[in-house]
Amino acid sequence: MSQPPIYILDDESQVLSLLSDIAQCVSFETKCYLRAKDLFAEIEVFDKNSVLVLDLSMPEMDGIEVMRYLASMTVKPSLILMSGQDVGVLHAAERLCAAHHLEHLASLKKPIQITEFQELLQRHVARVSYRCATTLKEVNAEFEPYELLFAIKNNQLELFYQPKVNLKTRGIVGLEALVRWRHPTKGVILPDKFISIAVYHGWIGLLTNWVIEKAVQQEEIWHRLDLHFPVAVNICADSFTGLSLPEQLMETLNAKMLHPTMLTLEVTETALMGELSTSLDILTRLRLKGVGLSIDDFGTGYSSLSQLHRLPFTELKIDCSFVTAMLADAEAKAIVRTCIILGHELNMLVVAEGVESLEHLDLLQEMGCDIVQGYFLCRPLPVEEITSYLKTQNTAVLEVCSEN
Ligand code: C2E
Ligand code: MG
Ligand code: MG
Repeated sequence: MSQPPIYILDDESQVLSLLSDIAQCVSFETKCYLRAKDLFAEIEVFDKNSVLVLDLSMPEMDGIEVMRYLASMTVKPSLILMSGQDVGVLHAAERLCAAHHLEHLASLKKPIQITEFQELLQRHVARVSYRCATTLKEVNAEFEPYELLFAIKNNQLELFYQPKVNLKTRGIVGLEALVRWRHPTKGVILPDKFISIAVYHGWIGLLTNWVIEKAVQQEEIWHRLDLHFPVAVNICADSFTGLSLPEQLMETLNAKMLHPTMLTLEVTETALMGELSTSLDILTRLRLKGVGLSIDDFGTGYSSLSQLHRLPFTELKIDCSFVTAMLADAEAKAIVRTCIILGHELNMLVVAEGVESLEHLDLLQEMGCDIVQGYFLCRPLPVEEITSYLKTQNTAVLEVCSEN
């Protein structure tokens, strides 16, 4: 696969020649420009998969104006941002990338580290080849909406389970149920591909009911095997419109003789931003009945601190993106640390998702996080595999229940 050239725009000629040399070392052709107007005079349409290395501070048209211009183009290059200013400027520019639908590959603080830039370009090549391969897979994974409705009604959905682990004892304190669609011809389809479609067509209530029934049924099976773990299920905003949800849940739990503390509902922060009074009613009644309530993907929404204080949550889950990034990104690390302090101040257990290495685990322990979840500990597994795994880890510590 041939690579389009790397475009470099910086008002300092030494930076241009340094970056160009590095890029050529890893077999990239480069095109360098000292001024934005020279770049746009020459390039009317970028090739697909092209990369523009963009300096933010330039005397004529600065990096932010360049981004605005790029946003109007049909084919947009991916961006590597550079700045000699503090990282706050780079982070603000990253948010602008998102607002303009420009793909942001990385941000580099000047002076540029040679190996960092080299590795970045190598990762880009790998990513482009991966993307070419997965575009085909994604085409295969396309489905007609009615197929999803059929799947919900005909048991094509399946729950995988991922353990939540207590950082101090390293014992499993619960499991998160994550839905998958085992399509008869297209393989396993992940929830990000179909949850929004279920919401759009109004089938999410049906899906949520199926997930809760299935998770509770599974808990009962595990109880008989002497495996006692609370299970968390994910709930969409739309499930909060029906005021009878708490009663329905209690019925389901009672039918299996399960205590409400054996169930936690994970609600995304964004889900709570709509009809707050209805959510507050339902959430408070669920909490009064003893069901655990977890605020999921914390940090990605915009809930105010006072809202958070008013809602009866028992657990705060820091979004994956901050946890995964915190080893390399000082701001992500500060956000994780602040979330932990905030959760504790509000008497919540704090869970970090996206723990992918021992370094993540050690840092979270040092920061005083309570519970961790991530590929480093265990990936989400189908029922048979997680059951065997649970049997080998017979150190169930049920403090989530006892603290509720
Ligand atoms: P979530 O609730 O925040 O779930 C965590 C996601 O992070 C899962 O993706 C999980 O597989 C993934 N994950 C776990 N460990 C790691 C790690 O170490 N690194 C990284 N990068 N990711 C990790 P999954 O299963 O694809 O689910 C995506 C989202 O779909 C979930 O995010 C949840 O919002 C939604 N979802 C899943 N199951 C259901 C469901 O039954 N109902 C509803 N309404 N939404 C669901
Ligand atoms: Mg979740
Ligand atoms: Mg999450």
